Amino acid sequence: MQASSSRRERLQSQFEELTVWKQGEQRASNKPLLILYALGRLAQGDRWLTYSNIEEDLRNLLVEFGPPRKRHHPEYPFWHLRTDGVWVIPESDRLDAPENTSDPPRITELREKNIRGGFPEDIYESLREDPGLRRSIARLLLSSHFPSSLHEDIAVAAGLDLESASTYRDPDFRLQVLQAYQYQCAICGFDLRIGATGTPIGLEAAHIKWKQAQGPDDVSNGLALCALHHKMLDKGALHVTEDLYLLVSEAVHGSDPHLSRLRDHHGKRIHTPQRTTYYPDGEVVTWHVEEVFRGPAGAYQM
Ligand SMILES: [Zn+2]
Repeated sequence: MQASSSRRERLQSQFEELTVWKQGEQRASNKPLLILYALGRLAQGDRWLTYSNIEEDLRNLLVEFGPPRKRHHPEYPFWHLRTDGVWVIPESDRLDAPENTSDPPRITELREKNIRGGFPEDIYESLREDPGLRRSIARLLLSSHFPSSLHEDIAVAAGLDLESASTYRDPDFRLQVLQAYQYQCAICGFDLRIGATGTPIGLEAAHIKWKQAQGPDDVSNGLALCALHHKMLDKGALHVTEDLYLLVSEAVHGSDPHLSRLRDHHGKRIHTPQRTTYYPDGEVVTWHVEEVFRGPAGAYQM
């Protein structure tokens, strides 16, 4: 059964208002990740999520898809999402009140008292009855907070079936970036094309500062990358400095020859664009290193 269209719209805007870029430049993807996870669990029939049971899953999502941080706090979204009106903690009165009411309760209490969280009853019912609504809210959260190259991975990790996520790409941006880098991956030089039209295969215009973080559609926020290197940039495995040096994260591992091939690029200059005005802008580069790159950079031989 489908929720009525006005009900659907109201719900969607409720989740839309969860614009969690309120802290300026910093990514705050914790709440969207919790909701995506809860949608996945709901699809499997779970009404309530007990904190101690989901803590590890949630932490893993934050580690993998959240910004690189020294410590991750799955208890924050679990507690603070209530203020957005899309989450309830029915047994919150069993918790000792923290001194400052805006602080979450002690994590040991959440664990030991088997505190549960979940969608409020009306939202839960609408979502349970309508898989299409679940998908559209999941897509909304993904497209508001993450670049499209990661949607599939996040959906899989959250246990969601998305079908194909809709994406928006600015065609001019793509064209200008590919042209600036002469239609080849700025890292590996990949430039295969197909057919008489010579359409590039798997060559993409990557945003250094994500569109979701208001990264501009300027060439100085772009890099022409093959699909693999684009993915690695968005995953924080790679970083490109303002003067075009490539850094590989120490966190990348795997087997040779793939690993050594990647590390061969470390500390080297990538292909330069046709004009110096196309070089990556300092501000977007700083954003990427602070919000995405999983440093430190490895200390490989250069
Ligand atoms: Zn490449």
